[in-house]
Amino acid sequence: MRHGSDQRQATSRVVVTGAAGFIGSHLVEALLADGNTVVGVDRRAPHTDPAAALHLERALTHPRFSLVTADLRTCPLAVLFRHSRAVFHLAALPGVRGSWGERFGEYASSNVFATERVVSACEEARVPRLVYASSSSVYGSGAGATQETTAPHPESPYAVSKLAGEQLCLAHAGQAGATLTTVVLRLFTVYGPRQRPDMLIGRALAAALGGPELTLYGDGGHSRDFTFVGDVVRAAVAAATRPAGTSVINVGAGVSTSVAEVLSTVEELTGHPVPVVRLPAQAGDVDATLADRSRAAELLGWAPRTTLRQGVSRQLARLTADSLRT
Ligand code: NAD
Repeated sequence: MRHGSDQRQATSRVVVTGAAGFIGSHLVEALLADGNTVVGVDRRAPHTDPAAALHLERALTHPRFSLVTADLRTCPLAVLFRHSRAVFHLAALPGVRGSWGERFGEYASSNVFATERVVSACEEARVPRLVYASSSSVYGSGAGATQETTAPHPESPYAVSKLAGEQLCLAHAGQAGATLTTVVLRLFTVYGPRQRPDMLIGRALAAALGGPELTLYGDGGHSRDFTFVGDVVRAAVAAATRPAGTSVINVGAGVSTSVAEVLSTVEELTGHPVPVVRLPAQAGDVDATLADRSRAAELLGWAPRTTLRQGVSRQLARLTADSLRT
């Protein structure tokens, strides 16, 4: 099903898979603001999924945006990708904890099989650049700042599926005579307005504002390189044009913050304590993540601009505005 206009011939045409998701919807807005014609693809439809409707609220009224509601595992893709200067492949089943056990089939089909279809369709449609949203989880636990040359050590089925996805993109781009170049972005814990409801900062803000208590896995000593969604989007936009060839690039703020420190920031900004229910650490939750961002600086001219405090304030402002509307 298509919503909005569809200007397939435009030279600045780009496609975003996972457009109705957290990061995808921010990327769509940035690409529209830059003058592109944007085709979003997502299996979540705004008329049946309230979160998708909220995420795409602004884009859906934009004359240069069209949305295709379809599943990447089955829908014809080359026809959607034709005449595009870049495809941003963000659609995936995210989250480490849910990937253990019986749901693995869904992770494998949405994160691996769908990625193979996307990259093959890019080749068929002669798309010059594929930007793939990978994850810092491919590294596993590491000490200090992780460089892209560090051997991957995925510690969950989700991380394995993301690594498989990036390897598929790289395998296609590495074929003799390939016209497709791929930029794999390894994103480090992304947060900001419209963050997925399963993620820490959104859950902590909601708990402080009177929502359900925060279920906290582990002792709060885990740390993450929290990266603001607006900064991630700038890296993705640059990745569509900046590096000359196929590459793998970390996108992380370069600061590791413990879960306990995040909770104090949330408490300070909201003025309320975060009620917590503690559970043991879960399988696949790595101890710490931290990006070495030299390659992002060199190849994308990228550096983060948003501190954790600024980013959490913006997420809080959006949450408060949304709750006033409902
Ligand atoms: P999200 O769940 O908000 O968005 C993903 C979107 O993909 C959803 O709207 C979903 O409907 C869509 N989708 C999934 N499978 C699909 C399919 N088969 N066909 C069509 N649409 C499909 O997730 P997000 O947090 O915005 O993550 C976006 C990407 O970034 C993912 O690839 C994820 O692995 C990666 N990533 C996210 C983070 C993070 O912290 N959020 C960190 C590292 C990597």
